[in-house]
Amino acid sequence: MHELSIVTGIIDAVREAIKDRDIEAVEEVVVEIGELMFLSPDQMRFVYEALTENTPLQGSRLTIVISRARISCEKCGYEGEITVEEDPLYHYVMPIFSCPECGGSVRITGGRDCYLREVRVRV
Ligand SMILES: [Zn+2]
Repeated sequence: MHELSIVTGIIDAVREAIKDRDIEAVEEVVVEIGELMFLSPDQMRFVYEALTENTPLQGSRLTIVISRARISCEKCGYEGEITVEEDPLYHYVMPIFSCPECGGSVRITGGRDCYLREVRVRV
C-alpha cells in the first residue's frame, strides 16, 4: 500500500522535528500532497492513526491538503493546472497530459510531491 510508506515518512519527519524539544503532545500535523500522488486521504488517516499509537503523535490530527498538479507546455509555453477529464459513468478522474492550449506535450512541474507543512504542538 502506497499510503503506508508515505505516512511512515511523514511520521518519521515529525518525530525528527520534535525530538530534543520539550513538548507535551502533538496536536495536528498538516501535510500537502500533490494530486498526482493518487493517495487516498481516508486511508492515510487510517494508517496514521494505527502507526501513531503509543508514540508522541498519538491522538494528533492529520490534516491533508491536496495541491493541484501543474504543467508547462514545451511548445507554446502554457503554464497552469492540469486538465482533468471526469468520466460520469465511473466517477473516475483522469488527468490529461497534454497542453489545453495547443495539445502539445507537457512537462509536469507540480503535483507529485509530499510536504510536511506544519506541526502543531502543545508545550
Ligand atoms: Zn501548448
